[in-house]
Amino acid sequence: MTTTEKTTEKITEGVRVRNAHKAFGPHPVLKGIDLDLAPGTVTVVIGPSGSGKSTLLRTLNHLETLDLGYVSVAGELIGVREHDGRLHELSPRQVRRQRARIGFVAQSFNLFPHLTVAANVAEPLLAHKVAGWDAAYTKAYDLLDRVGLKHRCTDYPRQLSGGQQQRVAIARALALEPDLLLFDEPTSALDPELVGEVLAVIKELARSGRTLVVVSHEIGFARDVADHVVFIDGGVVVEQGPPAQVLDHPQNARTREFLGKVR
Ligand code: ADP
Ligand code: MG
Repeated sequence: MTTTEKTTEKITEGVRVRNAHKAFGPHPVLKGIDLDLAPGTVTVVIGPSGSGKSTLLRTLNHLETLDLGYVSVAGELIGVREHDGRLHELSPRQVRRQRARIGFVAQSFNLFPHLTVAANVAEPLLAHKVAGWDAAYTKAYDLLDRVGLKHRCTDYPRQLSGGQQQRVAIARALALEPDLLLFDEPTSALDPELVGEVLAVIKELARSGRTLVVVSHEIGFARDVADHVVFIDGGVVVEQGPPAQVLDHPQNARTREFLGKVR
């Protein structure tokens, strides 16, 4: 495991989570999560509300730190408190660099309301100084084209539907060409008729060779695109495996009960 400054190495490791523990005050939320997600695969995480799905996703992106255990992405430690008896702390520069390699799409679109659609997508490129103004906007137009919104470049977020705003958020998450893309219930804030267009964009991304982790209750979507399904309940992984196994032949009674409710 290394935390040295390497940016060009071939990614042979995906996401690894070991013995992840996290409590908020006296309330344990993650109670020893272990996960291995191969690079280039699509993982759909399912589980009841409050089971720790968002917290888990946030630890992958430096938005939460673990109390115990560790997380690594592409062979680099992300968050760790105690592991091999030492305290591992990353420099702010390392954190910034790692976060640039991980795209995050939240439930609510979190676009900047005062920036145009194109400016929202160009913003990470300008903020991280990886492109000048011209190159950043050219890239933004390309990305917006990929999510079917090139014609809305000069609009402001409030002029778009929720589904369109979420597609802009996805384009923005792609701006820095992340290896890993995290989606936290990307369609749960949308009107039902807008869910399909966002799932279609994510499905397209699933074919792009990136590693995707999607928290979602869309079981049909999970069956279509997931290589791996993880069912979390009460801060532990109750069951995981290929969709045909977890979704169609769940072994655990809690998985069966949950699937009975969301289907
Ligand atoms: P899920 O995404 O599966 O619904 P979360 O990971 O958001 O679950 O939350 C798990 C539990 O942790 C919930 O009980 C939630 O209230 C609590 N929680 C999440 N974030 C915080 C926080 N920042 N402070 C205190 N409690 C939190
Ligand atoms: Mg959540």
